[in-house]
Amino acid sequence: MSSARSLNRFWEWGRKIICVGRNYIDHAKELNNAIPSEPVLFLKPPSAYVREGSPILVPFYCSNLHHEVELGVVIGKGGTAIPQKAAMEHVAGYALCLDMTARDVQEECKSRGLPWTLAKAFNTSCPVSEFIPKERIPDPGNVRVWLKVNEQLRQEGNTSSMIFTIPFLISYISQVITLEEGDLILTGTPKGVSSVQEHDEVQAGIEDIVSMTFRVERP
Ligand code: MG
Repeated sequence: MSSARSLNRFWEWGRKIICVGRNYIDHAKELNNAIPSEPVLFLKPPSAYVREGSPILVPFYCSNLHHEVELGVVIGKGGTAIPQKAAMEHVAGYALCLDMTARDVQEECKSRGLPWTLAKAFNTSCPVSEFIPKERIPDPGNVRVWLKVNEQLRQEGNTSSMIFTIPFLISYISQVITLEEGDLILTGTPKGVSSVQEHDEVQAGIEDIVSMTFRVERP
């Protein structure tokens, strides 16, 4: 693999970000959503990536920007209609991610039956940590993710509370959307989503495996 396409920098060349909504019962309930019987999927463009050192920008049309901390799954080997039993062979590693959401816009979209693009896909809507090789998280179905705003704990959850497991999601998604090397799957957020304001400091982590810090700014 050439260095230009190293999975260590998947955000520079990965072609898609596939997100799963409402994958934790306690989070679905806090937003008054039904518990899904099939995964809720949406996309972010790769232009949504932002890395530590650059700020999360509040979209000009948003007055209620929410954080959602999520375990990201980085695809190492592509495939279509991947069986669940083989799904983990397609995983190269993980990343800690934030699914930044213009909640006011999303509520409006939901009530009008419109797509979530403006709520979910804007620039800097996908802050991402360093790449975490697969070996460093031997059981991705049992890790704790957390998020603090200005040092106050807002979200804490364990991936064991996911409704749809990672192998199920890889299999389900790949029946519809071919997965490619460098793609990222955001696996949903636990409860505790809340607003961030300009000048806030958002810090998030996966246990003590990785952590990252971002400032929130207005462009
Ligand atoms: Mg989310």
